[in-house]
Amino acid sequence: MRSFAGAGVGCAPVHAVSGTGAWITTTSGTRLVDFIHGWGSIIAGHAHPAVTTAIATQAQLGTGFGLTNELEVRLAVALAQRTGLPMSRAVNSGTEATMTAIRLARGHTGRELLLKFAGCYHGHSDALLVAAGSGGLTFGNPSSAGVPVATATTTLVLPYNDTEALRDCLQQHGNQLAAVILEPIAGNMNLVVPTQEFIDEIAAGCMHHGAVLISDEVMTGLRATPGLTIRDRFGVEPDLACLGKVIGGGLPVAAVVGSSEIMNKLAPVGPVYQAGTLAGNPVCLAAGLATLELLDAAAYSQLEHSAATLCATLTETAAAAEVTLCAQHVGGMAGYYFCAELPTTLAAVEQTDVTAFEQFHQAMLAAGVLLPPSRFEACFVGLAHDAEALAHSRAGMEQAFAQLAAPSGR
Ligand code: PMP
Repeated sequence: MRSFAGAGVGCAPVHAVSGTGAWITTTSGTRLVDFIHGWGSIIAGHAHPAVTTAIATQAQLGTGFGLTNELEVRLAVALAQRTGLPMSRAVNSGTEATMTAIRLARGHTGRELLLKFAGCYHGHSDALLVAAGSGGLTFGNPSSAGVPVATATTTLVLPYNDTEALRDCLQQHGNQLAAVILEPIAGNMNLVVPTQEFIDEIAAGCMHHGAVLISDEVMTGLRATPGLTIRDRFGVEPDLACLGKVIGGGLPVAAVVGSSEIMNKLAPVGPVYQAGTLAGNPVCLAAGLATLELLDAAAYSQLEHSAATLCATLTETAAAAEVTLCAQHVGGMAGYYFCAELPTTLAAVEQTDVTAFEQFHQAMLAAGVLLPPSRFEACFVGLAHDAEALAHSRAGMEQAFAQLAAPSGR
């Protein structure tokens, strides 16, 4: 996706050569306000001086030793404080974090079956590249070439936000489940907010059947809310959570966090194998820790305000041009949809107007604003999206919606 931003929406791929704050500069010298922001891995803005200084300072001290270092301990302390879960293991990507969490859940429970939800993305390990089979409640099929069918059949896939389907599944398979994994706010099918009832049912089901509740907060963690979104927003305590993106400040850092009971099952203390040559790399951790220092209460208020402004501007400018659109945000994540009501399911997102989305994306790019190039991706708002960047975006929207309204009167 990264290098093809633009290609899926009828635009030439966008290639960035540099970025400062909310803006990126492309190979052709065009400056764009960036709402992709490293797919959410940038929260302080591109090339934030505190982050680049921390990287440079650490690089001069050595780029990696493969030994436990002080920064790793500082990250573990910071994550415990922010997530309320006492133990963590640093890895290099969200994919590794979810893969490790699943192995840990299987090792902990001695069970193999995993439950995930269609439209949630958890990285590209085999067990998670699985789509729903045909029929309501079936074992999964590979969603990518190269994924063994035998692996896919250990994963059940249900619709997101469908409490009834969930209840049926738990009744049938609950006591075989090693884990239930979910995005507590889905950010990989645009932005979809689940109901409290759905999250409560997952929590109760996991508790009742002894399955591990894994909250995949690679996107939401420390962005949608200051800590774990499943707790901050829904009041539910996960057994394990996966973090990534924000905690690396744009460099590859991710983590599994969890209770001591489960985390102590990880090697070398426990029997569940996990390792990584570059895990806990000090240069990456320096970037992550410098970013976390910027994320205080005022920063979260600012993110909230900027994302709310973005969404209000989208709906106002669309309405002024008589274009049907709605938008919502959760902390520093935002979604907009070419339909009348906020979608609550993947099926509803699939029904949004794809032609309008593509035309709007193209017009915004021409007006100097880079939005995610798919209606199944959330927008990312950061601390650098200041009044100037938001005003520039507003001007782009006015222009883009006027173009959209003109030919078809959408
Ligand atoms: N989980 C979620 C919720 C994600 O959004 C992503 C990536 N977008 C991943 C896991 C995988 O992370 P990575 O790309 O760092 O492997």
